[in-house]
Amino acid sequence: MMKAAVLGATGSVGQIFVQLLCGHPWFDVSVVAASERSVGQKYHEAARWRLPAPIPENISELEVVDIEPNAVKDIEDVDVVFSALPSEAAGKAEESFAQAGYVVVSNASSHRMDPDVPLINPEVNCDHVCLIDEQRKRRKWSGAIITNPNCSATVLTLSLKPIYDEFGIKKVIVSTMQAISGAGYPGVASLDIVDNVIPFIRNEEEKMQAETLKVFGSPSKLAEFKISASCHRVPTLDGHMEAVFVEPEREADPELVMAAMEKFVGEPQKLGLPTAPAKPVVVRNEEDRPQTRLDRMEGDGMSVAVGRIRRDPVLLGVKYVVLGHNTIRGAAGCGVLNAEYLKAKKYL
Ligand code: NAP
Repeated sequence: MMKAAVLGATGSVGQIFVQLLCGHPWFDVSVVAASERSVGQKYHEAARWRLPAPIPENISELEVVDIEPNAVKDIEDVDVVFSALPSEAAGKAEESFAQAGYVVVSNASSHRMDPDVPLINPEVNCDHVCLIDEQRKRRKWSGAIITNPNCSATVLTLSLKPIYDEFGIKKVIVSTMQAISGAGYPGVASLDIVDNVIPFIRNEEEKMQAETLKVFGSPSKLAEFKISASCHRVPTLDGHMEAVFVEPEREADPELVMAAMEKFVGEPQKLGLPTAPAKPVVVRNEEDRPQTRLDRMEGDGMSVAVGRIRRDPVLLGVKYVVLGHNTIRGAAGCGVLNAEYLKAKKYL
Protein backbone atom coordinates (compact mmCIF):
# COMPACT_ATOMS: atom_id res chain seq x y z
CA MET A 1 0.00 0.00 0.00
CA MET A 2 1.35 3.49 -0.86
CA LYS A 3 0.97 6.26 1.67
CA ALA A 4 -0.60 9.53 0.56
CA ALA A 5 -0.83 13.09 1.87
CA VAL A 6 -3.70 15.35 0.82
CA LEU A 7 -3.01 19.11 0.76
CA GLY A 8 -6.19 21.17 1.08
CA ALA A 9 -7.83 18.07 2.56
CA THR A 10 -10.56 20.03 4.35
CA GLY A 11 -11.98 21.73 1.21
CA SER A 12 -14.57 20.57 -1.36
CA VAL A 13 -12.09 18.73 -3.59
CA GLY A 14 -9.96 17.62 -0.62
CA GLN A 15 -12.96 15.85 0.90
CA ILE A 16 -13.60 13.98 -2.34
CA PHE A 17 -9.92 12.93 -2.37
CA VAL A 18 -10.32 11.61 1.18
CA GLN A 19 -13.46 9.74 0.22
CA LEU A 20 -12.09 8.26 -3.02
CA LEU A 21 -8.85 7.17 -1.36
CA CYS A 22 -10.63 5.54 1.56
CA GLY A 23 -10.69 1.85 0.65
CA HIS A 24 -8.54 2.44 -2.44
CA PRO A 25 -6.57 -0.71 -3.28
CA TRP A 26 -3.24 1.11 -3.82
CA PHE A 27 -3.27 4.36 -1.80
CA ASP A 28 -3.94 5.09 1.84
CA VAL A 29 -4.29 8.65 3.25
CA SER A 30 -1.95 9.05 6.19
CA VAL A 31 -1.46 12.84 6.28
CA VAL A 32 -3.97 15.67 5.87
CA ALA A 33 -2.82 19.27 5.46
CA ALA A 34 -4.66 22.58 5.17
CA SER A 35 -4.44 26.27 6.08
CA GLU A 36 -3.43 27.89 9.37
CA ARG A 37 -7.12 27.95 10.26
CA SER A 38 -7.12 24.15 10.52
CA VAL A 39 -3.56 23.25 11.56
CA GLY A 40 -3.47 21.47 14.93
CA GLN A 41 -7.15 20.45 14.84
CA LYS A 42 -8.42 16.92 14.26
CA TYR A 43 -9.65 16.42 10.70
CA HIS A 44 -13.27 16.03 11.80
CA GLU A 45 -13.05 19.35 13.68
CA ALA A 46 -11.44 21.29 10.83
CA ALA A 47 -13.36 19.95 7.83
CA ARG A 48 -16.90 21.13 7.33
CA TRP A 49 -17.72 17.66 6.00
CA ARG A 50 -20.26 18.04 3.21
CA LEU A 51 -20.55 14.54 1.75
CA PRO A 52 -23.45 12.19 2.47
CA ALA A 53 -21.26 9.29 3.73
CA PRO A 54 -19.56 9.83 7.11
CA ILE A 55 -15.89 10.86 7.40
CA PRO A 56 -13.78 7.69 7.03
CA GLU A 57 -12.90 6.54 10.56
CA ASN A 58 -9.16 6.29 9.98
CA ILE A 59 -9.04 9.93 8.78
CA SER A 60 -11.39 11.53 11.27
CA GLU A 61 -8.85 11.66 14.12
CA LEU A 62 -5.79 12.65 12.03
CA GLU A 63 -4.28 15.97 13.07
CA VAL A 64 -4.22 18.57 10.29
CA VAL A 65 -0.70 19.79 9.48
CA ASP A 66 0.82 22.68 7.58
CA ILE A 67 1.26 22.41 3.76
CA GLU A 68 4.99 22.06 4.16
CA PRO A 69 7.22 19.04 3.36
CA ASN A 70 8.82 18.86 6.81
CA ALA A 71 5.45 19.02 8.56
CA VAL A 72 4.28 16.07 6.43
CA LYS A 73 7.53 14.15 6.91
CA ASP A 74 7.27 14.49 10.69
CA ILE A 75 4.06 12.44 10.55
CA GLU A 76 4.78 9.91 7.80
CA ASP A 77 7.09 9.11 4.91
CA VAL A 78 4.46 9.44 2.18
CA ASP A 79 4.86 8.12 -1.39
CA VAL A 80 2.54 10.58 -3.14
CA VAL A 81 1.04 14.01 -2.48
CA PHE A 82 -2.41 15.00 -3.76
CA SER A 83 -3.01 18.74 -3.94
CA ALA A 84 -6.44 20.37 -3.68
CA LEU A 85 -5.08 23.78 -2.73
CA PRO A 86 -6.33 27.09 -4.14
CA SER A 87 -3.94 28.36 -6.78
CA GLU A 88 -2.69 31.22 -4.56
CA ALA A 89 -1.28 28.67 -2.11
CA ALA A 90 -0.54 25.82 -4.52
CA GLY A 91 2.21 27.36 -6.67
CA LYS A 92 4.97 27.55 -4.08
CA ALA A 93 3.80 24.67 -1.88
CA GLU A 94 3.75 22.18 -4.76
CA GLU A 95 7.20 23.28 -5.88
CA SER A 96 8.60 22.80 -2.39
CA PHE A 97 7.19 19.24 -2.26
CA ALA A 98 8.63 18.39 -5.69
CA GLN A 99 11.95 19.88 -4.58
CA ALA A 100 11.84 17.65 -1.51
CA GLY A 101 11.46 14.61 -3.77
CA TYR A 102 7.67 14.08 -3.70
CA VAL A 103 5.46 13.38 -6.70
CA VAL A 104 2.61 15.92 -6.50
CA VAL A 105 -0.67 15.20 -8.27
CA SER A 106 -2.38 18.58 -8.45
CA ASN A 107 -5.83 19.99 -9.15
CA ALA A 108 -4.69 23.58 -8.91
CA SER A 109 -4.19 25.83 -11.92
CA SER A 110 -0.80 27.24 -10.83
CA HIS A 111 1.39 24.90 -12.89
CA ARG A 112 -1.06 23.55 -15.47
CA MET A 113 0.28 25.62 -18.35
CA ASP A 114 4.00 25.32 -17.47
CA PRO A 115 5.56 23.76 -20.59
CA ASP A 116 7.37 21.06 -18.58
CA VAL A 117 4.39 20.10 -16.40
CA PRO A 118 2.07 17.40 -17.74
CA LEU A 119 -1.60 18.44 -17.90
CA ILE A 120 -3.35 15.11 -18.17
CA ASN A 121 -6.90 13.88 -18.56
CA PRO A 122 -5.91 10.22 -18.57
CA GLU A 123 -8.13 8.80 -21.33
CA VAL A 124 -7.15 11.70 -23.58
CA ASN A 125 -3.41 12.34 -23.29
CA CYS A 126 -1.63 10.14 -20.76
CA ASP A 127 1.36 10.04 -23.15
CA HIS A 128 2.20 13.57 -21.88
CA VAL A 129 3.58 11.86 -18.76
CA CYS A 130 6.96 11.89 -20.53
CA LEU A 131 7.21 15.61 -19.63
CA ILE A 132 8.12 14.52 -16.10
CA ASP A 133 11.58 13.49 -17.31
CA GLU A 134 12.12 16.93 -18.89
CA GLN A 135 10.75 18.64 -15.77
CA ARG A 136 13.18 16.77 -13.52
CA LYS A 137 16.10 17.61 -15.76
CA ARG A 138 15.16 21.27 -16.15
CA ARG A 139 14.18 21.98 -12.54
CA LYS A 140 16.84 19.73 -11.00
CA TRP A 141 14.45 18.02 -8.60
CA SER A 142 13.74 14.37 -8.01
CA GLY A 143 10.03 14.83 -7.32
CA ALA A 144 7.50 15.92 -9.93
CA ILE A 145 4.33 17.95 -10.46
CA ILE A 146 1.57 16.55 -12.63
CA THR A 147 -1.75 18.33 -13.06
CA ASN A 148 -5.26 17.61 -14.27
CA PRO A 149 -7.32 20.14 -16.25
CA ASN A 150 -9.89 22.45 -14.71
CA CYS A 151 -13.30 20.84 -14.18
CA SER A 152 -15.06 22.18 -17.27
CA ALA A 153 -12.05 21.44 -19.53
CA THR A 154 -11.91 17.87 -18.19
CA VAL A 155 -15.54 17.22 -19.12
CA LEU A 156 -15.11 18.85 -22.54
CA THR A 157 -11.84 17.13 -23.50
CA LEU A 158 -13.08 13.66 -22.55
CA SER A 159 -16.17 14.10 -24.75
CA LEU A 160 -14.11 15.53 -27.65
CA LYS A 161 -11.51 12.76 -27.64
CA PRO A 162 -13.46 10.17 -29.72
CA ILE A 163 -14.26 12.89 -32.29
CA TYR A 164 -10.65 14.07 -32.37
CA ASP A 165 -9.35 10.54 -32.92
CA GLU A 166 -11.78 9.60 -35.69
CA PHE A 167 -12.45 12.84 -37.54
CA GLY A 168 -9.95 15.48 -36.38
CA ILE A 169 -11.12 18.86 -35.07
CA LYS A 170 -11.09 22.28 -36.77
CA LYS A 171 -13.26 24.37 -34.45
CA VAL A 172 -15.03 24.01 -31.09
CA ILE A 173 -17.58 26.33 -29.50
CA VAL A 174 -18.72 25.51 -25.98
CA SER A 175 -21.20 27.08 -23.60
CA THR A 176 -21.20 25.83 -19.99
CA MET A 177 -23.76 25.55 -17.18
CA GLN A 178 -21.54 25.05 -14.14
CA ALA A 179 -22.56 23.87 -10.68
CA ILE A 180 -22.07 25.91 -7.52
CA SER A 181 -19.63 23.41 -5.96
CA GLY A 182 -17.17 24.38 -8.70
CA ALA A 183 -16.51 27.54 -6.71
CA GLY A 184 -15.36 25.62 -3.61
CA TYR A 185 -16.78 26.18 -0.12
CA PRO A 186 -18.55 28.46 0.81
CA GLY A 187 -18.32 29.54 -2.84
CA VAL A 188 -21.04 31.69 -4.37
CA ALA A 189 -23.36 33.45 -1.89
CA SER A 190 -26.87 31.95 -1.86
CA LEU A 191 -28.37 35.41 -2.44
CA ASP A 192 -26.40 35.60 -5.68
CA ILE A 193 -27.17 32.16 -7.09
CA VAL A 194 -30.66 31.07 -5.94
CA ASP A 195 -33.19 31.83 -8.70
CA ASN A 196 -30.38 33.12 -10.85
CA VAL A 197 -27.74 32.45 -13.53
CA ILE A 198 -24.42 34.30 -13.40
CA PRO A 199 -22.85 34.67 -16.86
CA PHE A 200 -19.30 35.12 -15.58
CA ILE A 201 -16.73 32.88 -13.86
CA ARG A 202 -13.41 34.61 -13.44
CA ASN A 203 -10.64 33.20 -15.73
CA GLU A 204 -12.75 30.15 -16.55
CA GLU A 205 -13.11 30.76 -20.29
CA GLU A 206 -9.40 31.45 -20.70
CA LYS A 207 -8.52 28.28 -18.76
CA MET A 208 -10.94 26.14 -20.73
CA GLN A 209 -9.58 27.35 -24.05
CA ALA A 210 -5.88 27.16 -23.19
CA GLU A 211 -6.03 23.86 -21.31
CA THR A 212 -8.04 22.12 -24.04
CA LEU A 213 -5.35 23.03 -26.56
CA LYS A 214 -2.59 21.79 -24.25
CA VAL A 215 -4.37 18.47 -23.62
CA PHE A 216 -4.87 17.85 -27.37
CA GLY A 217 -1.40 19.04 -28.35
CA SER A 218 1.76 17.01 -28.47
CA PRO A 219 3.76 17.08 -25.20
CA SER A 220 5.74 20.05 -26.52
CA LYS A 221 3.23 21.96 -28.67
CA LEU A 222 -0.35 23.18 -28.26
CA ALA A 223 -3.02 21.85 -30.62
CA GLU A 224 -3.96 24.28 -33.36
CA PHE A 225 -7.74 24.05 -33.65
CA LYS A 226 -9.90 27.06 -32.79
CA ILE A 227 -11.89 27.08 -29.57
CA SER A 228 -14.26 29.59 -27.98
CA ALA A 229 -15.87 29.11 -24.54
CA SER A 230 -18.64 30.96 -22.72
CA CYS A 231 -18.95 30.00 -19.02
CA HIS A 232 -21.97 30.41 -16.73
CA ARG A 233 -22.73 29.54 -13.09
CA VAL A 234 -26.16 27.94 -12.60
CA PRO A 235 -28.00 26.93 -9.41
CA THR A 236 -27.16 23.20 -9.45
CA LEU A 237 -25.02 21.69 -6.68
CA ASP A 238 -22.73 19.28 -8.58
CA GLY A 239 -22.28 18.51 -12.27
CA HIS A 240 -21.15 20.74 -15.10
CA MET A 241 -23.29 20.62 -18.25
CA GLU A 242 -21.87 21.91 -21.53
CA ALA A 243 -23.43 22.57 -24.96
CA VAL A 244 -20.70 21.75 -27.48
CA PHE A 245 -20.53 22.62 -31.21
CA VAL A 246 -17.77 20.98 -33.26
CA GLU A 247 -16.51 21.38 -36.80
CA PRO A 248 -14.48 18.25 -37.51
CA GLU A 249 -11.71 18.10 -40.09
CA ARG A 250 -13.37 15.22 -41.91
CA GLU A 251 -17.09 14.73 -42.62
CA ALA A 252 -18.77 13.26 -39.54
CA ASP A 253 -22.50 12.72 -39.28
CA PRO A 254 -24.17 12.34 -35.88
CA GLU A 255 -24.52 8.54 -36.16
CA LEU A 256 -20.79 8.13 -36.79
CA VAL A 257 -19.94 10.45 -33.88
CA MET A 258 -22.29 8.49 -31.62
CA ALA A 259 -20.67 5.21 -32.68
CA ALA A 260 -17.18 6.62 -32.04
CA MET A 261 -18.18 7.77 -28.56
CA GLU A 262 -19.89 4.49 -27.70
CA LYS A 263 -16.90 2.35 -28.56
CA PHE A 264 -14.31 4.70 -27.05
CA VAL A 265 -11.97 3.46 -24.33
CA GLY A 266 -8.65 4.95 -23.28
CA GLU A 267 -5.40 3.76 -21.77
CA PRO A 268 -6.80 3.63 -18.18
CA GLN A 269 -9.47 1.14 -19.30
CA LYS A 270 -6.90 -0.95 -21.20
CA LEU A 271 -4.65 -1.03 -18.12
CA GLY A 272 -7.62 -1.85 -15.85
CA LEU A 273 -6.83 1.02 -13.44
CA PRO A 274 -9.00 0.84 -10.30
CA THR A 275 -10.74 4.23 -10.75
CA ALA A 276 -11.20 3.96 -14.54
CA PRO A 277 -14.90 3.79 -15.45
CA ALA A 278 -15.75 0.92 -17.82
CA LYS A 279 -17.23 3.44 -20.28
CA PRO A 280 -15.62 6.89 -20.05
CA VAL A 281 -18.19 8.40 -22.43
CA VAL A 282 -21.76 7.19 -21.95
CA VAL A 283 -24.15 8.06 -24.77
CA ARG A 284 -27.82 8.67 -23.85
CA ASN A 285 -30.41 8.24 -26.57
CA GLU A 286 -33.40 9.85 -24.85
CA GLU A 287 -34.35 13.26 -26.25
CA ASP A 288 -34.02 14.97 -22.86
CA ARG A 289 -30.82 13.48 -21.38
CA PRO A 290 -28.26 13.95 -19.90
CA GLN A 291 -29.79 15.72 -16.91
CA THR A 292 -27.73 17.03 -14.02
CA ARG A 293 -29.56 15.31 -11.16
CA LEU A 294 -30.02 12.01 -12.96
CA ASP A 295 -26.73 11.53 -14.77
CA ARG A 296 -23.88 13.22 -12.87
CA MET A 297 -22.99 9.98 -11.01
CA GLU A 298 -22.60 7.97 -14.23
CA GLY A 299 -19.62 5.61 -13.78
CA ASP A 300 -19.45 6.57 -10.07
CA GLY A 301 -18.93 10.17 -11.19
CA MET A 302 -15.98 9.27 -13.44
CA SER A 303 -17.79 9.04 -16.81
CA VAL A 304 -19.22 11.89 -18.81
CA ALA A 305 -22.76 11.50 -20.18
CA VAL A 306 -23.38 12.74 -23.71
CA GLY A 307 -26.73 13.22 -25.42
CA ARG A 308 -28.59 15.14 -28.11
CA ILE A 309 -25.90 14.44 -30.72
CA ARG A 310 -27.18 16.13 -33.85
CA ARG A 311 -26.07 17.94 -36.96
CA ASP A 312 -24.90 21.54 -36.57
CA PRO A 313 -25.85 23.64 -39.61
CA VAL A 314 -23.51 26.53 -38.85
CA LEU A 315 -20.21 24.82 -38.11
CA LEU A 316 -21.04 22.06 -40.64
CA GLY A 317 -20.43 19.45 -38.00
CA VAL A 318 -22.14 18.13 -34.91
CA LYS A 319 -23.49 19.56 -31.69
CA TYR A 320 -24.22 17.74 -28.42
CA VAL A 321 -24.67 18.16 -24.69
CA VAL A 322 -22.20 16.70 -22.19
CA LEU A 323 -22.42 16.41 -18.42
CA GLY A 324 -19.68 15.48 -15.94
CA HIS A 325 -19.28 15.54 -12.17
CA ASN A 326 -17.05 18.53 -11.46
CA THR A 327 -15.51 17.48 -8.14
CA ILE A 328 -15.12 13.79 -9.08
CA ARG A 329 -14.25 13.47 -12.80
CA GLY A 330 -13.41 17.18 -12.98
CA ALA A 331 -11.11 17.22 -9.97
CA ALA A 332 -10.20 14.60 -7.33
CA GLY A 333 -11.24 11.55 -9.40
CA CYS A 334 -9.11 12.68 -12.31
CA GLY A 335 -6.20 13.21 -9.89
CA VAL A 336 -6.57 9.71 -8.44
CA LEU A 337 -6.72 8.24 -11.95
CA ASN A 338 -3.57 10.15 -12.86
CA ALA A 339 -1.82 8.76 -9.77
CA GLU A 340 -2.89 5.24 -10.73
CA TYR A 341 -1.47 5.77 -14.19
CA LEU A 342 1.81 7.07 -12.70
CA LYS A 343 2.05 3.95 -10.56
CA ALA A 344 1.26 1.66 -13.50
CA LYS A 345 4.04 3.37 -15.47
CA LYS A 346 6.47 3.20 -12.51
CA TYR A 347 6.69 6.97 -11.93
CA LEU A 348 5.54 6.23 -8.36
P1 NAP B 1 -12.04 25.00 -1.17
O1 NAP B 1 -13.29 24.26 -0.89
O2 NAP B 1 -12.01 26.47 -0.92
O3 NAP B 1 -10.84 24.32 -0.32
C1 NAP B 1 -9.55 24.87 -0.24
C2 NAP B 1 -8.63 23.99 0.63
O4 NAP B 1 -7.31 24.58 0.64
C3 NAP B 1 -9.04 23.89 2.09
O5 NAP B 1 -8.57 22.68 2.60
C4 NAP B 1 -8.29 25.06 2.74
O6 NAP B 1 -7.99 24.83 4.11
C5 NAP B 1 -6.98 25.01 1.97
N1 NAP B 1 -6.34 26.33 1.91
C6 NAP B 1 -6.90 27.50 1.53
N2 NAP B 1 -5.97 28.50 1.60
C7 NAP B 1 -4.84 27.94 2.06
C8 NAP B 1 -3.55 28.46 2.36
N3 NAP B 1 -3.24 29.74 2.18
N4 NAP B 1 -2.62 27.59 2.81
C9 NAP B 1 -2.91 26.29 3.00
N5 NAP B 1 -4.11 25.73 2.72
C10 NAP B 1 -5.07 26.55 2.25
O7 NAP B 1 -11.59 24.83 -2.69
P2 NAP B 1 -11.90 23.60 -3.72
O8 NAP B 1 -13.12 23.84 -4.50
O9 NAP B 1 -11.76 22.33 -2.97
O10 NAP B 1 -10.70 23.77 -4.75
C11 NAP B 1 -9.39 23.32 -4.49
C12 NAP B 1 -8.54 23.40 -5.75
O11 NAP B 1 -9.07 22.53 -6.73
C13 NAP B 1 -8.52 24.81 -6.38
O12 NAP B 1 -7.24 25.05 -6.93
C14 NAP B 1 -9.57 24.70 -7.47
O13 NAP B 1 -9.35 25.62 -8.51
C15 NAP B 1 -9.36 23.27 -7.93
N6 NAP B 1 -10.52 22.66 -8.58
C16 NAP B 1 -11.76 22.74 -8.00
C17 NAP B 1 -12.84 22.12 -8.65
C18 NAP B 1 -14.24 22.15 -8.10
O14 NAP B 1 -15.16 21.70 -8.81
N7 NAP B 1 -14.48 22.64 -6.87
C19 NAP B 1 -12.63 21.44 -9.84
C20 NAP B 1 -11.35 21.37 -10.39
C21 NAP B 1 -10.31 21.98 -9.73
P3 NAP B 1 -8.92 25.39 5.32
O15 NAP B 1 -10.11 24.51 5.38
O16 NAP B 1 -8.01 25.23 6.48
O17 NAP B 1 -9.24 26.81 4.99
